[in-house]
Amino acid sequence: MTYSHPHLLGIEPLAPPEITAILDLADQYADLNRRDVKHADALAGLTQINMFFENSTRTQASFELAGKRLGADVMSMAMQASSIKKGETLIDTALTLNAMHPDLLVVRHPHSGAVDLLSEKVNCAVLNAGDGRHEHPTQALLDALTIRRAKGRLHRLSIAICGDIAHSRVARSNIMLLGKMENRVRLIGPPTLMPSGIEHFGVEVFNNMEEGLKDVDVVMMLRLQRERMDGGFIPSEREYYHRYGLDAEKLSHAKEDAIVMHPGPMNRGVEIDGELADDINRSVIQEQVEMGVAVRMAAMDLLARNLRARRQAKPEVAV
Ligand code: ASP
Repeated sequence: MTYSHPHLLGIEPLAPPEITAILDLADQYADLNRRDVKHADALAGLTQINMFFENSTRTQASFELAGKRLGADVMSMAMQASSIKKGETLIDTALTLNAMHPDLLVVRHPHSGAVDLLSEKVNCAVLNAGDGRHEHPTQALLDALTIRRAKGRLHRLSIAICGDIAHSRVARSNIMLLGKMENRVRLIGPPTLMPSGIEHFGVEVFNNMEEGLKDVDVVMMLRLQRERMDGGFIPSEREYYHRYGLDAEKLSHAKEDAIVMHPGPMNRGVEIDGELADDINRSVIQEQVEMGVAVRMAAMDLLARNLRARRQAKPEVAV
């Protein structure tokens, strides 16, 4: 089985073999990305438009690089400067861009569900680069690839996701992906930062780092998503770091070879100790960034294959 969907909107609709198909292809692109000449032609002749309605450093840069390495014509729209400021709706902007015949649309939006909605209005492949607190599928996939390469497998691992779970699309997508691949997921954080309905997630919940980290293989730290908070969820950053910030002492409760992850952007001294984040013997944060490019190449390659197949089967809707 390979990837069968027209879009990549979230992890929720994916079957485990589809996840594996993306990761296997991404592994090959990770090798390509380490060569001197990094070009392939999977997207040659296609147009990729990136629309980021929320700030992004890693995700936008890596989607752009991924498209260029595969030979697409890539345009990144400066959404802050676009007609959105003049009151144009998301859908009107999408329809305008659709009329320019893009093949791949990469969209980040502050509202959960906005990218799904948009995908119904356009006739190209849509990739969700993060929608509100809903999903961030390419982040979960790059995390999965990083774990698989570091641990040699992506099943029967014990993985702790720590911090601001409630506001995090990274946590949601990772919980789903890691659960589908039969790992044990633990969520650790203050009760105020746990989402409601957590009991339906198939995870174990801890409010204490020392207990929650006991014998885990992977420790994934999350940023406090202040932009999505509408009140005081934590007493103070100092107190938060003391109880939930990852440092060498807290990490000593995990397995001896446990790896440390963070999707970025990182707040050193808030959710993670700066020295630990830079410790190449424990932290795989740079590998996550590297795998991000490879995973986005793989996802766009697979979507482009499906797009071409659909257009061949139904030439009248070809754009
Ligand atoms: N970069 C990730 C995201 O867009 C994580 C974060 O912002 O904290 O969700």
